Amino acid sequence: MTLATQPMPGLVDAYGRVAEDLRVSLTDRCNLRCSYCMPADGLAWLPGRTILSDAEVVRLVGVAVGRLGVRKLRLTGGEPLLRPGLAGIIRSVRELRTRDAEPPEVALTTNGIGLDRQLEGLVAAGLGRVNVSLDSLDPARYARLARRDRLPEVLRGLEAAAASGLRPVKVNTVVMRDANEQDVVPLAEFCLERGYELRFIEQMPLGPRHGWDRTAMVSAAEVLGRLQEHYRLVPLPGRGAAPSEDWQVLGDDGAVRGRIGVIASVTRPFCRACDRTRLTADGQVRTCLFSQTETDLRTPLREGASDEELAELWLGAHRGKGPGHGIGTAGFRQPERTMSSIGG
Ligand code: SAM
Ligand code: SF4
Repeated sequence: MTLATQPMPGLVDAYGRVAEDLRVSLTDRCNLRCSYCMPADGLAWLPGRTILSDAEVVRLVGVAVGRLGVRKLRLTGGEPLLRPGLAGIIRSVRELRTRDAEPPEVALTTNGIGLDRQLEGLVAAGLGRVNVSLDSLDPARYARLARRDRLPEVLRGLEAAAASGLRPVKVNTVVMRDANEQDVVPLAEFCLERGYELRFIEQMPLGPRHGWDRTAMVSAAEVLGRLQEHYRLVPLPGRGAAPSEDWQVLGDDGAVRGRIGVIASVTRPFCRACDRTRLTADGQVRTCLFSQTETDLRTPLREGASDEELAELWLGAHRGKGPGHGIGTAGFRQPERTMSSIGG
């Protein structure tokens, strides 16, 4: 049997975890400057020649889906709606087939700006789900956190997501001390009324240097405490590899009002169940948000490597995946790249 016809193992690591969920960053650029993600002045953007072309993105995703067992894709960034070829990339990756001969599921994480204008085309191309990040409903607080006064555009994007029929529409919120703690319940109410699934994410040390303080971080437990002052929360089982711990929200009359989740990446890490692999906009595989090393696929790709060779490199990266992010341990070091450049 030749190498080309040998079935390859999935992206298994030394701890027996299998990565089937690929996060693809399509750009490191963004039209917001969320304080937990990017410095106020932005960053030195990745040089254009290092950014994978649309065809290169599709080729590498094809290796992951066709050879390495990836089933789910999430397109992110930076802000993925800033990528001119986004609809074309979605259309092309939906033509790929997983090992079960299914098209991969394709989801998008976005800040929502411009989503109202682009969504119809993205859905026609095969987009299956969308998450919109929203940290406050108060225009002044939103503008302070995102360092841009663009809340109305985000809300228009969110309305477009609801009107598109994509379900569930998920909303991501990072709660910051002395910044948007007072938004927890208004955001919950806003999402429950509209049928959106809200997930509160603990702030991780992936933003500007020295911008994270464990003692100041608003924990998932604290967020749940605030919610419990207003709602009855019933834990939902069946988390699997999902980072979110979900709760059913009951109204005063006991009727189900919806679902809210918390992503306790810092206080209750889910590394043992991690099923993720990541590809940066400049073609580097990261096995973890907090990796200190990356595996370059762009150079071999441009030098003519075959799909098998690229798959071997990707597999090799996962064999070296660490057991967990180690936040709070003595040896922990924040990675060089910020969240915007890794792809959240
Ligand atoms: N620009 C898009 C957006 O904001 O949704 C996609 C990229 S963004 C990096 C993806 C997600 O990461 C967002 O929901 C954002 O809130 C989250 N995020 C960014 N920095 C974070 C941090 N330091 N800790 C936790 N979540 C973070
Ligand atoms: Fe941009 Fe998203 Fe980072 Fe905010 S969280 S700065 S929207 S990449």
